[in-house]
Amino acid sequence: MTLPIIIVHGGAGNWPDKRIPVGLEWVEKAAIAGFKVMENGGSALDAAEACTLVMESCGNLNAGVGARVNEEGVKELDAMIIDGSALMFGSVMAVTGVDHPISLARYVMEKTRHVAFAGEGAKKVYVKMLEEGYRSEVQQRFTTHPLDMSGFDTVGCVTLDLDGRIAATSSTGGTGEKMAGRVGDSPIFGAGAYANELCGATATGWGEHIIRVLLCRTVALYIEQGIDVQTATEKAMNVFASKTGSKAGVIALDKEGHYGFSTNTKAMPTVVISGNLNMLTKSTCTESYKMK
Ligand code: ASP
Repeated sequence: MTLPIIIVHGGAGNWPDKRIPVGLEWVEKAAIAGFKVMENGGSALDAAEACTLVMESCGNLNAGVGARVNEEGVKELDAMIIDGSALMFGSVMAVTGVDHPISLARYVMEKTRHVAFAGEGAKKVYVKMLEEGYRSEVQQRFTTHPLDMSGFDTVGCVTLDLDGRIAATSSTGGTGEKMAGRVGDSPIFGAGAYANELCGATATGWGEHIIRVLLCRTVALYIEQGIDVQTATEKAMNVFASKTGSKAGVIALDKEGHYGFSTNTKAMPTVVISGNLNMLTKSTCTESYKMK
């Protein structure tokens, strides 16, 4: 396999047919943005953030600008970013008033002595981040289609750069009609995403159930045991489905650039770019999951 590689999903769920091309379009744009960062020598971490920023900005996916509201009508966002080579992560939970929680999560990882912040505390960290000029809010709003929030459209990616470093992200507005203060799998290390020096994975679907089997850590465990990446995602999905009876999807890659994805939902728009921009593969993943 030729490096760098990026694999990106736009959420697994019961996508209405007309929304699948929209999801794929934005996942592709995000994958290209992230890939270009690494092509130009940027790190897996930079690429993962850049890719996720596009999906948080687009207004057509359940993250950032386009995120769902909770049952009180408030957008409470969860996000996590992971630097696999350092086994470090930052996450934010149920944070409000933020368009790009992925950058805030990175700030948590790089600039604070903690790994996770929630609610009002996360908002204070956000204000500090802006004051320090670490990031400015990118108020790009690309919405091109009316929003239809029936589905699980969390976003995430896994990246592998030219130096063999792996990063992963997840960013979401959470599930529909969630209660105020609810936190899902997306900001939980090992559940909604995971990466180390060997491999990385990121998940989407019913967070309450993904957490119970630490879905992304389960994928990584299989890869660490020498199981190929595609089979590892399918085996982890089998564990998830048989233990919880629930719905989810997961994407993953290893340090050699092998990748895999699996879902038991209707669709999970996914794009992979490996080696160069001509090597771009798009999938809705509708056929990718088989019970074994
Ligand atoms: N996993 C997310 C959550 O439970 C939802 C999703 O993937 O759409 O918050």
